[in-house]
Amino acid sequence: MHVMVLGAGITGVTTAWYLRRAGFDVSVVDRQGEAGQETSFANGGQISVSHPEPWANPAAPLVALRWLGRAGAPLRLRPRADPAQWQWMLAFLRACLPWRSRRNTAAIAALAVHSLAGLRQLRKLAAIADAYDARAGGILHLFFDARQFARARARVAELSSFGIELRPCSAAQCIAVEPALAALVPRLAGGLHAPGDESGDAMRFSRALAKVLADDGVCFHYGAHIERLRAGGGRIAGVDIRHARGGDTLGADAYVVCLGSHGRRLLRPLGERLPIFPLKGYSITAPVADAARAPCVSLTDESRRIVCSRLGERLRIAGTAELNDYSLDIDPARIAAMLEWAATHLPGAIDPARATPWAGLRPATPDGPPIIGRGAHDNLWYNTGHGPLGWTLSCGSASILAALLRGEKPAIDFPFRHGRG
Ligand SMILES: Cc1cc2nc3c(=O)[nH]c(=O)nc-3n(C[C@H](O)[C@H](O)[C@H](O)COP(=O)(O)OP(=O)(O)OC[C@H]3O[C@@H](n4cnc5c(N)ncnc54)[C@H](O)[C@@H]3O)c2cc1C
Repeated sequence: MHVMVLGAGITGVTTAWYLRRAGFDVSVVDRQGEAGQETSFANGGQISVSHPEPWANPAAPLVALRWLGRAGAPLRLRPRADPAQWQWMLAFLRACLPWRSRRNTAAIAALAVHSLAGLRQLRKLAAIADAYDARAGGILHLFFDARQFARARARVAELSSFGIELRPCSAAQCIAVEPALAALVPRLAGGLHAPGDESGDAMRFSRALAKVLADDGVCFHYGAHIERLRAGGGRIAGVDIRHARGGDTLGADAYVVCLGSHGRRLLRPLGERLPIFPLKGYSITAPVADAARAPCVSLTDESRRIVCSRLGERLRIAGTAELNDYSLDIDPARIAAMLEWAATHLPGAIDPARATPWAGLRPATPDGPPIIGRGAHDNLWYNTGHGPLGWTLSCGSASILAALLRGEKPAIDFPFRHGRG
C-alpha cells in the first residue's frame, strides 16, 4: 500500500519514518527544496515534555487581557474579519474551562512521554543522534515572581502522576544546574528542573531523517506546491501539484496531511474542517560569543514566555504568540525584545550583531492536542495541529498515526480525531 505524506516538516518526516517501518510504501510531497524549511526551521528547540499544559487553560483569558495592547507583551491579538479566526478564539475560550484544560493536559502529557521514548529509539535506529545538536541536560523553567513560582511548584505532584519529573530549585540550585545563569541570582525566585527533557535543532533532525528515508527508498517530491486535493466517491483520488516544470497529479492509496498551518485552507473545499489557526512566533539564532556565559541546559523564562536552547555553537532564543494571519513578516520590535532578553539574562553569551531573525506559524488547535486520525474521506488521514509542541510531540504522534493506519490499537489512550468532544 502506498501512503503519500503531504508536508515534510518535523511531523511529515517522522510520519514517513513510522509508516516506512510499519511496512508501507511511502512518498512525501513538499513545496520547499528540502525538509524542515517552514515552521520546523528555527523553533525553540525544546523537547518539552515538562510543559504539557495547553495554552487554553483557566488562567489564559485573564493573562491575555492583561497583556492586550502592551508593547513587548508575549501575546498579541489582531482581530480580523475572518470567521475562522473568531471560531478559533471562541473554541479556545471554551477549552479554558478547568475540566477541559485538565483533560487536554493529561492527553498532551501522555503523548509527550510516549514521544520522548520514541525519539530516543528513532535516533538510535536511524543513526542520526549526532546530526541535530541534541542535548539531554533537561529544561530549567525560571521564575522571577515568587507567587508564580509557588503556583508552579504546586503542580509538580500532578505532573509527576503523568510520569514527568520536575525538581524544584532555589536560585542557588538553579546556578548549580546551569552556571551560566550566575548573574541572575538576585532576581531569580526559583526554578523547576525537568531532567528528562532535551533540546535539539528540529530542522537538522528533519533533514537528516529525510536523507535516511530517501536512502531507504522513500520518494521525496520537493519543490512541489500542492494546489488542491481531488476527491470522488468519498475518497481522495490524487493531489494536484505545481512545480518548476509545470503541473502534475500525484496518486497514492492513502494520504496523510502534515501541512502545518496551511492544511485547513487546502482541505476546506472538500468539506473537511480542521480547527487550526496560525499562531505566529519569532526566534533569533546567534553564534555563541563566550562559551562560559552561554547555557547548555535549555531554559524557559516563565514570566516572559521565552525559551532558549544551546544548539552546538549557536544559541536559539524563541517566543511570542501573535494571533493574526498567515504573514511571515518580521516585526523588528519583537526581535529587539529577544536581543534585550539575551543582553539582560545572559550578558556576553552571544554576538547580537550576528543574530539571525526568523518568524514561523505554529499550527495551533484551540484546545491544544494535535489532530491525529482519519478524516471525513476514507483514505485521508491527519497528523497535524501540534501548535507550540510539534517538535516535542512529533515521534509519538507519528507512531500513533502509523498504528491507526495499520488498523492497530495505538500505544496510548488519546482523543483521536473522531473521539474529540
Ligand atoms: C517561535 C516558535 C518556537 C517554537 N518552539 C518549539 C519548541 O521549543 N518545541 C516544540 O516542540 N515546538 C516548538 N514550536 C512548534 C513547532 O515548531 C511546530 O509545532 C512544528 O514545527 C510544526 O511542524 P509541522 O511539520 O506540522 O509544520 P511545518 O514544519 O510548517 O511543515 C509543514 C510542511 O508543509 C509544507 N507545505 C505547506 N503547504 C504546502 C503546499 N500547499 N504544498 C506543498 N507543501 C506545503 C511546508 O513547506 C512545510 O514543509 C515552536 C514554533 C514557533 C513558531
